[in-house]
Amino acid sequence: STAQWQARDARHHLHSFTDPGLILEQGSRIIVRGEGSHVWDSDGRKILDGMAGLWCVNIGYGRTELSDAAKAQMDRLPYYNNHFQSAVPAMIELAERLAGLTPAGLDHFTFANSGSEANDVIVRLARYYWKLLGKPGKRTIISRTLAYHGSTVAGVSLGGMPAMHGMDNGTLPEFAHVEHPHWYVNGGDLAPADYGLKAARAIEEKILELGPDNVAAFIAEPVQGAGGVIVPPETYWPEVQRICRAYDVLLIADEVICGFGRTGAWFGSQTFGIEPDFMPMAKGISSGYLPIAAVALHDRIFDVIAKGGLWPHGYTYSGHPVSCAVALANIEIIAGEGLVERVRDDIGPYFQASLQALADRHPLVGERRGVGLMAALQLVRDKATRTVCTMEDNAAILTREACYADGLIARAVGQSMVLSPPLVITRGEVDELMEILTRALDGTARTLGL
Ligand code: PLP
Repeated sequence: STAQWQARDARHHLHSFTDPGLILEQGSRIIVRGEGSHVWDSDGRKILDGMAGLWCVNIGYGRTELSDAAKAQMDRLPYYNNHFQSAVPAMIELAERLAGLTPAGLDHFTFANSGSEANDVIVRLARYYWKLLGKPGKRTIISRTLAYHGSTVAGVSLGGMPAMHGMDNGTLPEFAHVEHPHWYVNGGDLAPADYGLKAARAIEEKILELGPDNVAAFIAEPVQGAGGVIVPPETYWPEVQRICRAYDVLLIADEVICGFGRTGAWFGSQTFGIEPDFMPMAKGISSGYLPIAAVALHDRIFDVIAKGGLWPHGYTYSGHPVSCAVALANIEIIAGEGLVERVRDDIGPYFQASLQALADRHPLVGERRGVGLMAALQLVRDKATRTVCTMEDNAAILTREACYADGLIARAVGQSMVLSPPLVITRGEVDELMEILTRALDGTARTLGL
């Protein structure tokens, strides 16, 4: 029974990103099955997954092509590694397939098991690249406030999450942060285009403050996901690109969320015209069916690394054959069913338009932001003055809980509601999502007296 699962869970399991006290007091939510865009809990309740798990189940739940691919690879060769000159055909095929999807020049791949590990290795690669070029001082990586790049020590240091930094003062030296480009909250009286330039130029100021000879790279997601689906103004990315080139600062586009169709292109970098030196990817690469991540290296980076001799890095499971086989089967589904084009031309615009219509008429929603199938609604006390709800209002958490009780998984990030459904979500399911979300927002608005 649910109560038995909860009791056993509470006894032995420290959950991720959860207050252990909540598990002890309220018990966990036990999810037992998934199909398409829905999951079922241990009481048999059907719940629409508006977050695709953790932004990752792009092809939806229950695709047996992936379990078939896993079984076939396990039966043939369950494990071998890519250390000491070895390779397995599935690794070779995946690297080749990815090279055909990434922006021009991003032709080389190293594998890892999670987005955190992928970003961790980029820190090593970027510094190593500059060392090989005779500039060992170029070590600092610039990132943004509210960024999330992983939970390893380097991942937390790259990230800009105050709670993670504050927990154990565990950030490493040689990481710096600039403001995340959220016009609605940070833009003041500036027009969005002017604010986009200002936010980009904060990177230039930081590079000059640190000294260009000390800065290795700038990292950012094309659209900041866990920070609250922050889509920068159109002026931002071209200016960031110019600044990185001008000061010899490598550009890392973190595609862990944006990759594999989420923004209506294979990669967010393609949606925003970004030409990165490194592209970490995870989540949607296997739709979360098995852990795997990859880092794309631009030819100009690889050519330098290739002359450095032995590259002393690797995980036992770098390019795990079963994960590679599953990732390949997943990519075949995304490509074969035209899911990227579907997000760009059909379901993405429908989803964003539905949310915009809600934002236009609802007193609690000040801003709808998003692209493709990732979106956020900014919850506000006053639309005219762009006054966002306060922590005390607790508006996003109230809304999230009401959604869950009504059969929808949505995420609360600060004072925003965040959504990132599977790429296979139907129009009918988007309508279902909107109905539940609207009811939940109505309830929160009543509670706040709006
Ligand atoms: N980078 C981004 C942008 C992410 O959103 C995440 C996870 O949410 C990560 C990196 C870390 O990935 P993982 O959880 O697979 O370690």
